[in-house]
Amino acid sequence: MQTVDHISFAGKKALIRVDFNVPLDKKTFEITDDARIRATIPTLKKILADGGSCILMSHLGRPLKKLKEDGTVDYEKHTLKHTVKRTSELLGVQVKFAGDCIGAEAAQMTVNLKSGEVLLLENLRFYKEEEKGDISFAQKLAVYGDVYVNDAFGTAHRAHASTAIIAQFFPKAKCFGYVMAREIENAEKVMKNAARPFTAITGGAKVSDKLLILENLLERVDNLIIGGGMAYTFLKAMGYEIGSSLCEDDRLDLCIQLMKKAEAKGVRLLLPQDSVVADAFSNEANHKVCDNKMIEKGWMGLDIGPEAIAANDEVIKNSKTILWNGPMGVFEMSHYEAGTKAAAIAVAEATEKGAFSLIGGGDSAAAVAKFGFEKKVSYVSTGGGALLEYFEGKELPGIKAINQE
Ligand code: AMP
Repeated sequence: MQTVDHISFAGKKALIRVDFNVPLDKKTFEITDDARIRATIPTLKKILADGGSCILMSHLGRPLKKLKEDGTVDYEKHTLKHTVKRTSELLGVQVKFAGDCIGAEAAQMTVNLKSGEVLLLENLRFYKEEEKGDISFAQKLAVYGDVYVNDAFGTAHRAHASTAIIAQFFPKAKCFGYVMAREIENAEKVMKNAARPFTAITGGAKVSDKLLILENLLERVDNLIIGGGMAYTFLKAMGYEIGSSLCEDDRLDLCIQLMKKAEAKGVRLLLPQDSVVADAFSNEANHKVCDNKMIEKGWMGLDIGPEAIAANDEVIKNSKTILWNGPMGVFEMSHYEAGTKAAAIAVAEATEKGAFSLIGGGDSAAAVAKFGFEKKVSYVSTGGGALLEYFEGKELPGIKAINQE
């Protein structure tokens, strides 16, 4: 894998796709979580330390999809100018800003850029060509730099102009930044080189969102734990009464096929034997533990129950590789958090015993953070949709564009 470590940037202009898509306060436009900017600082510091300069490209929200009521672009909500101050502080270098990502001003600023300097270009998504993957837009950006660096894993599953298309203009001078490299390395450790036993824990709301992942995982894992709202569609497919639990009736056949596939592959599939059920989707609702064979009418499963926790624990603690995607219940509400919390504890214990654990894609990362286990697992991915597509077995355009000759 070609990374910034394999290139000397002395006297070179690095054109870097970063992910500065940070949350902003609605009124003051202050950054409320700078984790994404912070993550890319080591990549930028390496380039500057070599004697290179950095031209940063990013998106922030979706300005052309989220227009104001009068149909115009909401500039204040989408300008990357709000990230200049924080980036400068973190980097210890005053970052320059080009108010348009293409055009004469940006071109001139890139030409004038000296070693040790950093220039941030305005939001790429002010142009529809970015998300369309327009080649001439990509080419306009490409002329700014000598080397193309992709460090935006969050958009690696998109074939946009700045994330994939642009790479063809740098056939001998393209690489991954440290954020991308670490994400790829950890995802590969799980999907390509997993030590056994390999257990995947999947949960969250819907089966339909996770079907491709489940199918792909069945080819690789020894154990597949299914919890959260998606478990009830499986339980219904098995002929159980699930009350008013979440269910996707159009996926019952698919659940049966997945269960058959697991059996044929010798994968141990763990569905919860019991649940914490409630008479409404609320933390204030009446709730009790109930066997999953018979959930009464008017009650819904909002967490896995104590028997399910015990069964999962045993499997998780004996695993050497663990992939966790999706909470075991409605962990945002205190009465239904036990199943997710127990899974976090079991994953932490297994990790302490030497297992490799990767958490990511959606709410499982939020759950692990909520219970304070971020440092007790091997890796929490920032990838979201990109990681999910990787788990589905897809080749991500942002990765392919750097890897191909
Ligand atoms: P996902 O984004 O698919 O990982 O889904 C995460 C969401 O699923 C969280 O907000 C959970 O509250 C929700 N969830 C988990 N278990 C259940 C359940 N049994 N019933 C309803 N929602 C659930």
